[in-house]
Amino acid sequence: MARELEEYERRRDFNKTGEPSPGSRSSDKDRTFVIQKHDARNLHYDFRLSIDGVLKSWAVPKGPSTDTRVKRLAILTEDHPMEYADFEGVIPEGEYGAGTVMVWDRGGYRNLRSGKEGKRGKGAASMEASYRDGHIEVWLEGHKLRGGYALTRTGSSGKREKWLLVKMRDEEADARRNPTSTETESVVSGRTMKEIEEEHSGG
Ligand code: MN
Repeated sequence: MARELEEYERRRDFNKTGEPSPGSRSSDKDRTFVIQKHDARNLHYDFRLSIDGVLKSWAVPKGPSTDTRVKRLAILTEDHPMEYADFEGVIPEGEYGAGTVMVWDRGGYRNLRSGKEGKRGKGAASMEASYRDGHIEVWLEGHKLRGGYALTRTGSSGKREKWLLVKMRDEEADARRNPTSTETESVVSGRTMKEIEEEHSGG
């Protein structure tokens, strides 16, 4: 198991939660992102990017925006195993993160700082280096979200690093869209949060 997943494993009892237990580290050639809507104590969106074989993860209380003027707080949380990108369901009461989880958006991404995308010299960086430096620029190819997004570390709140998630200026930016309010179904099952919850409880 990757050392990065120790905190993920420590927080969970895999006999009780249906979340995946950490498997082997995946190829770091994977370029996947997933955004999971998570109705835990506070509703939030978990934004995850595959970097170096794990899903680097941020909790975004208000979710992503397609408006370039909107800065969304993104709190760095523990790394998740790659298999977590498939997880949709209900984390049982009493367990860490208890509540309903939906795969709100998912797809591939490209590193806009790779040096092949126009940024050369000083601005170029691998995903691993971008994460370490606290400045990530990616092009998302999702169902709901497309285009460039920047994540920038701004400081820390207690133990957790604070970052900001901002839509970059490109043809996919759209200040009139508000996908967290208008596109509320799972991209893998078409279900609403309520339907995921009801199906889990056998209703
Ligand atoms: Mn969460």
